[in-house]
Amino acid sequence: MAETAPATARLTARRTSAIGDALKGLLDHLAFCDQYRGQPGVSDMVLGNPQDMPLPGFVEAITRHAQPLDKDWFAYKKSGDDARAAVAAELRRRRGLPFDPADIALTPGAFGAIATAFRAFLDPGDEVVYSLPPWFLYEPMLLSVDAVPVKVRVRADNDLDPDAIAGAIGPRTRMVIVNTPNNPTGRIYPASTLRELAALLTDASARYGRPIWLLSDEPYSRLVFSDADFHSPSEYYPYTLISYSYGKVLLTPGERVGWLALSPSIPQREHLRGVIDVSQIAAGWLFPNAVLQHALADLEGLSIDLADIERKRDSLSAALREAGYELRPPEGTFYLWVRSPDPDDVRFTRVLAERKVLVLPGSICEVPGHFRISLTASRPMIDAAIPVFTDAARRSGHEPAGAVMR
Ligand code: PLP
Repeated sequence: MAETAPATARLTARRTSAIGDALKGLLDHLAFCDQYRGQPGVSDMVLGNPQDMPLPGFVEAITRHAQPLDKDWFAYKKSGDDARAAVAAELRRRRGLPFDPADIALTPGAFGAIATAFRAFLDPGDEVVYSLPPWFLYEPMLLSVDAVPVKVRVRADNDLDPDAIAGAIGPRTRMVIVNTPNNPTGRIYPASTLRELAALLTDASARYGRPIWLLSDEPYSRLVFSDADFHSPSEYYPYTLISYSYGKVLLTPGERVGWLALSPSIPQREHLRGVIDVSQIAAGWLFPNAVLQHALADLEGLSIDLADIERKRDSLSAALREAGYELRPPEGTFYLWVRSPDPDDVRFTRVLAERKVLVLPGSICEVPGHFRISLTASRPMIDAAIPVFTDAARRSGHEPAGAVMR
């Protein structure tokens, strides 16, 4: 008897179809861009990927630390003591808070840190509140642990809306995610907003009888422009977990290293360290590879040329405003978040792509009518893109007005 193939939906876990739906817009856009990527004259501004050669210091550090000094150099590695100490020392120096090396879990980038936090602190059905536009992978990552995303909008000036967050919190809320400096808006949330957020989380935690975790996703915390100040939510709210990645400050997102830190003001940290450790192991050994951990103390001192990114921010923002685009210049990160002259942002990004300029439609960040530009593009890519942006705005009926969103 001929065997009939089972329906494909019965071959896989039920949750993967929801994850697939959440990722569809991004994956479709990346597949669309692939037909242009790598062609001569293409300005690739879609993702935070390097478009110039890597930092020489980075290459030297990983080359040097790839030389084994003992038999355990490449043995199974959890969070190495030296790497933890290097991170805690740098955090203490930058934040003025007494971070303990034992409270630092080394992870494969912020991705790994977020996945670890979700596994350690969320049960199926727990609600997690975050603000739109968000990093587009929170939703699929939450769905992968059967948690429930609850979304609110930021305010018109891209600052958090504490009233909206307070309104979204209920008895099932287990966590709130805050991403500052923000991808995609580039906004750094002011201390006054973070204080308000801390007060409302403290009230809501008391109301529901358990602490609401604040996951402060800070992979861009070292990419802060000269006219801005960064404050971490961990300065204001005790139950804060921080996720970080070296992939942004070094522009090496393919070399996966970052960390998850417990704020020094969290009580019962000793117990939580163990929970984080088992979560990393059980999720598939969510630790960075050995060479990156050995190199970490050297990597701490390196950064891409932030002044150059700031110059790109300034010249591209000015050219876009001149062409009539509306944008609020970012205070950090390496992205520009721009209002699309065509309310159909996907259609507009395809018009740009036909002219060899690749950007990310705002719909992927759940805020249609915008698009995101990555300033990791090389200078020649930016120079080539400016006349295309200008022409596309004119064709969409934009007057060169120079509008700024404040
Ligand atoms: N969080 C945010 C806000 C991001 O923008 C990114 C990367 O784009 C990540 C986390 C993940 O960072 P990484 O890929 O370096 O782990």
